[in-house]
Amino acid sequence: MRRLDVLLTIDVETWPRNWKQPLANFQEDHERCVWGRTPHGEYGLDWQLQVLARHGLRGVFFVEPLFAGAVGMEPLQRMVAAIIAANQEVQLHLHSEWLPWQHQPLLAEGRQGGRLHHFTQTEQRQLMDVGRSLLAECGANKIVAFRAGSFGANQDTLLAATQAGLSFDSSDNLCYRGGNCLIEETVDWQGSTTAAGVVEMPVTCFMDRPGHWRPLQVTACSLSEMRAMLEQAWQQGWQRVVLLSHSFECLNRQRSRPDPVVVNRFLGLCEFLEQEKDRFRTIGFDQLADQVWSATTLQPLQSNLLRTFNRHLQQLFRSCWVDGGLGRG
Ligand SMILES: [Zn+2]
Repeated sequence: MRRLDVLLTIDVETWPRNWKQPLANFQEDHERCVWGRTPHGEYGLDWQLQVLARHGLRGVFFVEPLFAGAVGMEPLQRMVAAIIAANQEVQLHLHSEWLPWQHQPLLAEGRQGGRLHHFTQTEQRQLMDVGRSLLAECGANKIVAFRAGSFGANQDTLLAATQAGLSFDSSDNLCYRGGNCLIEETVDWQGSTTAAGVVEMPVTCFMDRPGHWRPLQVTACSLSEMRAMLEQAWQQGWQRVVLLSHSFECLNRQRSRPDPVVVNRFLGLCEFLEQEKDRFRTIGFDQLADQVWSATTLQPLQSNLLRTFNRHLQQLFRSCWVDGGLGRG
C-alpha cells in the first residue's frame, strides 16, 4: 500500500523564564524545558523517547546547541546521548538569543540578534557551523537538516544552509510568514527544492477556518484534527507531512505541571501512527532522498468548523483548569 512519510519533529531547547538573566536559573529552566521535570512527573525528552520506542516510531529531534557555549557541554551531551541511545535522529536548531551569553564571542564585533534573519548570510552560515560542531562533539555527526529558532528565517538562511552542506531546511511555517518567518512567497508552501538549492520541508499547516492557517503542532491541534488532516493528506496523495512539537510541549503554559490534554494528544497521535503504519511511515531526514518534490497541484488541507469548535473547548479547559490553577491539588 502507498505510504505517506511523516516527519514527527520535536524541537529540543532550553527556554529560560528570564532572558535578561538566562544563566541565573539555568539548571531549573533546563530540567523543565528539556526533560519536562515538574513536581508532578516528567513529561519531556526522555518520556517522548520512551513513547516513540513503545510504538515503534521514528522521530526527528531538532536540538538547540548554542546554549552550551554559555553553560558548558555536559547538558548538551546528555540530551544528544539520550536521543542517539534511543536510535532517533538529531538535527540542528539554533536560537541566536544565546549569543550575548557565550564565553567566547561567536561572531565578529559581538554581533547579536534575536532571530536568524537579523544576521547576514555569512554570519548565519558561521552560526550553523558552530552549532554543527557542538553537536558533532556530542556524537551527532550526521546533521542534514536545519530549523531556525522561532521560524526566524529568511532567504539567506536557505542559502547559508546550502553552503553549510545541509540538504534540508524546515524553517518555513505559514503561520509565521511575514512575522518571524521572512522566507519568500516564492518558496512552495508544501515543500520543494528551493532556488537556494536546499530542499524546504515546511511545517505542515491546514485551514481550520476559511483563510486561516494552523500548524500541525501537538499543542495547537486536537487529536481529531491531527488524525483528520493526516487522513486527508493520505487521501489527496501527499507524499510527506511535517508535524511539530517541542520537548516542553506536554507541560502547561507555566511549565509547572504536565498538561493532561496535550499528554493525551501526544499519546493518541503515536497510537494512531502505530495502528496505521501501513499507510503512514514515520521517518528521519536521513531516509529522505533529497529529490525535487513539488506539491503545487495539491489542495490545502482543510478541517471543518465542528472540529475547530471542539478544539476551542479543549483550549478553554486547558486555560481554565490546567493553566489557571483550578486543577492544582
Ligand atoms: Zn526553538
